[in-house]
Amino acid sequence: MIMKYECECGNVHRSKIDNLFVIDDGIKGVISNIKRVIKAGTVSIIASEDMSEYASDLKVQLDANGYTYKVAIICESEEGFRENAEKVADMSAVSELTIYIGGEYISSLACGGHDMYIITSLAFTSPISDGNSYVLVDVSAISKSPLSHVASGYGKLITKLLCVLDYRAITTCEKSGECLDILSKIESSIISLFESRYVYYRDGDFTRDLISTVLQVAVYESMLKSGDILHNYDVVSNNVRTVIGGKILVGECDMLVGWYSFNVLKSVLNYGRADLFYPADIVADAERIATLTNRKLKQVVSNISIVKSCEVARLTYVIDEYRDDITSYISSIWDSLIMAMKNYRRIYYDAGLALSRSISLEKLSDVISGSLCEQKHFSIVKLLRINGEI
Ligand SMILES: [Zn+2]
Repeated sequence: MIMKYECECGNVHRSKIDNLFVIDDGIKGVISNIKRVIKAGTVSIIASEDMSEYASDLKVQLDANGYTYKVAIICESEEGFRENAEKVADMSAVSELTIYIGGEYISSLACGGHDMYIITSLAFTSPISDGNSYVLVDVSAISKSPLSHVASGYGKLITKLLCVLDYRAITTCEKSGECLDILSKIESSIISLFESRYVYYRDGDFTRDLISTVLQVAVYESMLKSGDILHNYDVVSNNVRTVIGGKILVGECDMLVGWYSFNVLKSVLNYGRADLFYPADIVADAERIATLTNRKLKQVVSNISIVKSCEVARLTYVIDEYRDDITSYISSIWDSLIMAMKNYRRIYYDAGLALSRSISLEKLSDVISGSLCEQKHFSIVKLLRINGEI
């Protein structure tokens, strides 16, 4: 993996992620990494319910290696968040090392200090971008995870590509002069995975390539000044997930959001600028999203960042200048995106899943366009929404 990149701009771009370890030998590898951090003492294990088996395997090995341990299997509920957070804080205060195993909910309970995350699924990759802690990537556990988790890891990459496009636009608009070579690296890693075909998606080459792409993208992302721009669509995908409900993963929604947004960009930008009234009715969007996602309007509105109308006019002007460039860029990656969708469909067929039945196109379009107002950063699709073009 490339952890630092000697760039043509004359700088060496360094990753903020120091302690990322990929392990091929499962729990055994986890133990040898724990030994690297602490020689003895108490280890707390915080795991989600679906990772309880993994946690108990780890417990047995900790015991065999002379560590004392505490285990908390966390029931993921929003109402119980505070209680869970307190429990984790108490455990972490009296242990030398705290290990987190599970998805976003589990990592949001982390309270700093001596932390270690074990990535056992591609649906659980948010700690990688954190950078302060130990992150262990258990390849064998990932290979054994449900295929929907693999699909989730694949899905996240398409919105990442969309964010790369927005990042370039932001840098151009702000004339920040940030070196954009890293963005091209992220883009080419993703595109080359999208263009690859595999006989099987269940295991072997595909999983290995997917894991290494996801990790490499995370490492490159940490080299950027504002890496969180590459998470700008998380809020949109989370809303889609809430609307669909059930056990769907955020990454699966990412694929829907990414593919939908690229299609919107391709068709709308081709038509040229529509002379319509703006700004769009953002409050109506917020109201609709509050109803669809079952949240208080106040909560949705608090996420909206106010953009001055002169700023909108300036951004619109800049984007208009680059409209042809953006269109031809999207055309240049279009075949790869179609390949990605074909691969994605195959993963789904192999898994016996059906995504298309979960949400109608009309509703999807409603949630996505309404959710754009909640994005923290600028995005081209959001600008088109503000301008009333979509
Ligand atoms: Zn550079």
